[in-house]
Amino acid sequence: MKILLAKPRGFCAGVDRAIQIVEKTLDLYGSPVYVRHEIVHNKAVVDRLKDMGAVFVKELDSVPEGANVIFSAHGVGEQIYRNAASKNLNIVDAACPLVKKVHFSAKRHDKKGLKIVLIGHEGHPEVVGTMGQIEGDMYLVSTPEDVTTLSLTQKDDIAYITQTTLSMDETRSVITALREKYPNIRGPEQGDMCYATTNRQAAVKQLAEEVDLLLVVGSSNSSNSARLAELGSSLGVQSYLIDSKDKIDKSWLTNVEKVGISSGASAPEHLVQEVVEFLKFSHPGSESEDFVVMEENVKFTLPKQLQSVI
Ligand code: SF4
Repeated sequence: MKILLAKPRGFCAGVDRAIQIVEKTLDLYGSPVYVRHEIVHNKAVVDRLKDMGAVFVKELDSVPEGANVIFSAHGVGEQIYRNAASKNLNIVDAACPLVKKVHFSAKRHDKKGLKIVLIGHEGHPEVVGTMGQIEGDMYLVSTPEDVTTLSLTQKDDIAYITQTTLSMDETRSVITALREKYPNIRGPEQGDMCYATTNRQAAVKQLAEEVDLLLVVGSSNSSNSARLAELGSSLGVQSYLIDSKDKIDKSWLTNVEKVGISSGASAPEHLVQEVVEFLKFSHPGSESEDFVVMEENVKFTLPKQLQSVI
């Protein structure tokens, strides 16, 4: 069996930064450090940080007055900052700079009096955070069908923004539907998908042409990981999203000669290597190699208060 490893795959600069923020905040202030929401959507990452002393909470109600609290990579709405200030919490913000960029767009459009359409998945924390950037309404759509039900008219001044971790192809179809219905709508041609989402999908697209089976390492609540497995399926390759090697069903491997592996932006590389080892063990003589589509060199700086922590 040949094992091809998509490159780029795995951790993006925003996830790498968010994890470092938790580690360094623990170093600086000691445990407990509270983290609102899963810092990134990966069970293995969250479990490791819990072992180091991070306390994950759903809402700030569970955080004591004056404590240290980290906001996750997905970003939060303005109300959450206000709630944190009213409890005198020390905030360390791990929101990805590329999510923040979308927040700034929302605020800029709002200031100019534009109505804002957000393309994204209802309930995803990034979407909740982005919608919370402005006081007024934001119109959420996920599909071209949703666009047909929008009550905005062509007389309205409208702009769209998007979640950063969507399917490139699906987003294109929603943007096309928006432009057809509202010819004067403003927004980025390709949406606001981040470089990591774009590059991982581009790599999987090419990899899918080469393999009989695609395994995507990532948690089911990770949007960008789920989109990779969906992309493989849409291209006719049997594709599975797995948290770890333990989720592999051996029947998937029957008559498979080439396996492709990718991983979501929040999935640690050791989980990928464990999958490779599992496949090599179950199919002795199998070989693995990188399937390089492009190189990535993106890095984000840490918040000022953590830059001196070694
Ligand atoms: Fe930032 Fe993109 Fe990574 Fe999300 S997936 S943390 S937006 S770089």
